[in-house]
Order: sequence, then C-alpha cells, then structure tokens
Amino acid sequence: MDLARTRDELPELAGRVALVPTMGALHEGHRSLIRLAHKHADHVVVSVFVNPLQFGPSEDFSRYPRTFEQDLAACEAEGVAAVFAPSVEEMYPSPLQVTVSSGTMGTIVEGAVRPGHFDGVLTVVLKLFNLVRPDVALFGQKDAQQLAVIRRMVGDLNVPVEIVGAPTLREDDGLAMSSRNVYLSADERVRALALSRALRAGQAERAPSAVLRAAQAVLADEGIEPDYLVLVDPATFTEVDDRYYGTAVLAVAARIGTTRLIDNVLLEL
Ligand code: AMP
Repeated sequence: MDLARTRDELPELAGRVALVPTMGALHEGHRSLIRLAHKHADHVVVSVFVNPLQFGPSEDFSRYPRTFEQDLAACEAEGVAAVFAPSVEEMYPSPLQVTVSSGTMGTIVEGAVRPGHFDGVLTVVLKLFNLVRPDVALFGQKDAQQLAVIRRMVGDLNVPVEIVGAPTLREDDGLAMSSRNVYLSADERVRALALSRALRAGQAERAPSAVLRAAQAVLADEGIEPDYLVLVDPATFTEVDDRYYGTAVLAVAARIGTTRLIDNVLLEL
C-alpha cells in the first residue's frame, strides 16, 4: 500500500479507480465503504484529511479524533492501493479565492445549523477529485445531505466522477457508527440511542405528519431537544408534506452532552 502526502506521490493505477474520502478515525462504517468500493473499481484510494474548511469556528476541528497509524493498518487490511493524506498546507497553501458554493441546498437543515459547512465539503471534495482523478467515489448515506449536495455538484458542474451512496453501518444496539461516538460518556451513549429509536419509530408510520410525530415523541421521552427532525426529499433536502410519494429521508441532529450527532433513515411514502 502506498502512502501519498502530495499529488506527485500518488501511484499511477491502471484500470478503474475508486476514491473513499474520509477524515480518518476509521471505524467499521468506513471499512464497509472501502469494501463496497472494491466492487466498483480495480483499485481503491482512501483519502484521510480533516478539512478545516468544513468546521465552524466553535466546532471540534482541533479535537477531532486522529488515529492515523490505526487508519493505515485498517486500509492495509482492506486491500487499499493508496492512502492519500495531504497536510493542511498541501491542500491550502494560500487562502482560497475561488470555492464551491452549495447554493440554497447548503443553507437548509444541517446547513442552517452549520453555515458554510457544505461549501467547505464541496470545495475539498472537488479538490480531492481533481488530485486523485477517480472514476467513482463513495459516500455514506449516514451524511445524507452531504451525499445529496455532492450529487448535485457533480450534476450541475458536470464533474466526471460516478457517485455511489453506501448504507449506514450501525452498532448492534442501533447507534450509527461515527468517529464522534468516542466523545460520548457511558451515560450519554445510552441517551444517544434515542436518535436511532426515534428514526425507527418514524419508519413504522406512513403519513409524513405521523412519521414526524412518532419520532418526536421518542426524543421528547428522552428529554432531547433536537437541532432538527425533518422529513425531506433525498435529492433536494426540502421538507415533504402529506401529498408526497416516494423515498424520503427522516433526518435528525441533536446534541448529547457536548457531542453533536446526526442520523437518518430512508423510508417509502
Ligand atoms: P467522515 O470520516 O466522517 O468524513 O466519513 C467518511 C465517509 O464515511 C463519509 O462518506 C461518511 O458518510 C461515511 N460514513 C460515516 N459513518 C458511516 C457509517 N456509520 N456507515 C457508513 N458510512 C459512514
């Protein structure tokens, strides 16, 4: 396995290349993405880069978990051809003038709570695409709005990369795997289960208003006041109403103690 710190250090790979962009602190969810990537390409490249552009000033950029040696071992074990792990200076040698705007889609739901977040995500994803030049890139459904804005960027800007979404991996008790789960105390981890429980309660209903009511009731029971609990169109992240038919995303974000968690499920209306 190659470790590349710069574009020049990336190996020339013959055949189809898949990119799995990550911020490191790899867990089984990331590994499932890498396994799926192997099915879509001859070679898998994993990027490990904690992108300062997508963190707000009061967010956890400096204390975001960093486990680089373990990440390399996980990538090696998953048969990854190369890990691309540039430094912040390599990615952003000077302040950017030109960036990608996620438009209105980036200002709603998660984007309303984290202004500028999706612009930061799209800018780094486009840079990673241009540096690694993959044929296909994989993103988790766990970050459903991220997946939606990336699909939109690729469509709107004719970016020649195929985008594949991958299902959310969960712990046995339902908690969505996340690098941020390590912040949770034992008590908080139990409280955090209310998120996936609320989403499952919503999934059991059919009409949008009933879906939201059922999910909201579970959160209220646990005394959780979410940043948002919404039922949205997976492509646009605009809220759906009782006349909507098709696949929808029930998405939630909440602070458990000081840790902010997001989760979502797909459901058929
Ligand atoms: P991150 O390192 O958090 O930026 O995540 C890197 C990629 O892994 C993103 O595409 C995430 O959506 C995806 N991912 C994160 N958590 C999970 C999970 N529990 N299951 C599947 N994919 C995930």
